[in-house]
Amino acid sequence: MITDEFIKSIQSDSVIVKRNEPMYLHTSFRIGGSADCFCEVNNIDALKNVISSCKSFGIPYFVIGLGSNLLVSDNGIRGVVIKLGGDFCEIEKTDENTLRCGAGVSLAGVCNFAKNCGLGGLEFAWGIPGSVGGAVYMNAGAYGGEIKDVAVSSRYLDNDGNIKEISKEKHEFSYRHSFYTDKNVVILDVTLGLFHKDKNDIFYLMQDTMQKRKAKQPLNRPSAGSVFKRPDGYYAAALIEQCGLKGVSVGDAQVSEKHSGFIVNNGRASAKDVLELVEKVKSVVREKTGVELQCEIKYIE
Ligand SMILES: Cc1cc2nc3c(=O)[nH]c(=O)nc-3n(C[C@H](O)[C@H](O)[C@H](O)COP(=O)(O)OP(=O)(O)OC[C@H]3O[C@@H](n4cnc5c(N)ncnc54)[C@H](O)[C@@H]3O)c2cc1C
Repeated sequence: MITDEFIKSIQSDSVIVKRNEPMYLHTSFRIGGSADCFCEVNNIDALKNVISSCKSFGIPYFVIGLGSNLLVSDNGIRGVVIKLGGDFCEIEKTDENTLRCGAGVSLAGVCNFAKNCGLGGLEFAWGIPGSVGGAVYMNAGAYGGEIKDVAVSSRYLDNDGNIKEISKEKHEFSYRHSFYTDKNVVILDVTLGLFHKDKNDIFYLMQDTMQKRKAKQPLNRPSAGSVFKRPDGYYAAALIEQCGLKGVSVGDAQVSEKHSGFIVNNGRASAKDVLELVEKVKSVVREKTGVELQCEIKYIE
């Protein structure tokens, strides 16, 4: 339970604390009840303090990025939600072709920064609406590229408040998975290794990527991107379409007419609507094709 004493212990100039914060404001799905406590932390000391207070008061905590891969329960989140701001939103060019990016920086921000430095390699990420931390956690990827291709190292805060650094090989990157998956540690920053490239070529590749997205994805509706992972040897969207599920809805949650791998929120969809629709899609696809779909989006309660 969040007490006044706990709030007092985490408050400082470097933390913005909100009680009963609606999570639909912090997710691209625009769905989710209130978090008991929502903290935007602006530097490492504040982050350490929030986590150590959570531990001593026995309060669970959960770190989010830009909420673009999350489905938050209608009942909200018990405990503290941590979002990285301030120092965690900085990007630094550390040498000729290396950028160190705070985990809170948006991928859009890093892509633009890299383009302006004439550094290529990140164009694939243009249009993925997450943060650098979320992208490393998920090993985000698109159009033939993945974060694993560019991540050189990352630093994180472990549960005991120690800062640790891991090199590329230690990230255990695989499809939508990394060393960080399902570990409750906080990614602090990520070092990206890029290469020199003409700014115009970078720009055109980014434009091309965005055009492909706009043509195929329902970007005019709130969603969390592809709901299901790509099953071995298949495309989730093609299976869903083949099973006649395109456009099927539960409440205001609908399998997108434009891209069957997306579920869109047509207005007032609840997390319950989305979960019901996910189960419906999984069971029809299982019955008709024998393929077991797995969720890529994270359900948080
Ligand atoms: C329209 C749309 C298109 C999309 N297209 C793609 C695509 O092409 N490719 C793709 O891979 N994904 C895509 N996504 C999904 C999503 O953008 C990615 O998964 C993204 O990497 C999530 O980043 P985030 O910052 O929003 O993380 P969140 O959704 O906030 O969190 C995701 C997970 O990362 C963890 N996390 C986030 N930050 C940290 C941190 N600092 N430390 C520890 N853990 C952290 C969270 O705890 C959570 O478990 C799309 C989503 C949308 C809405």
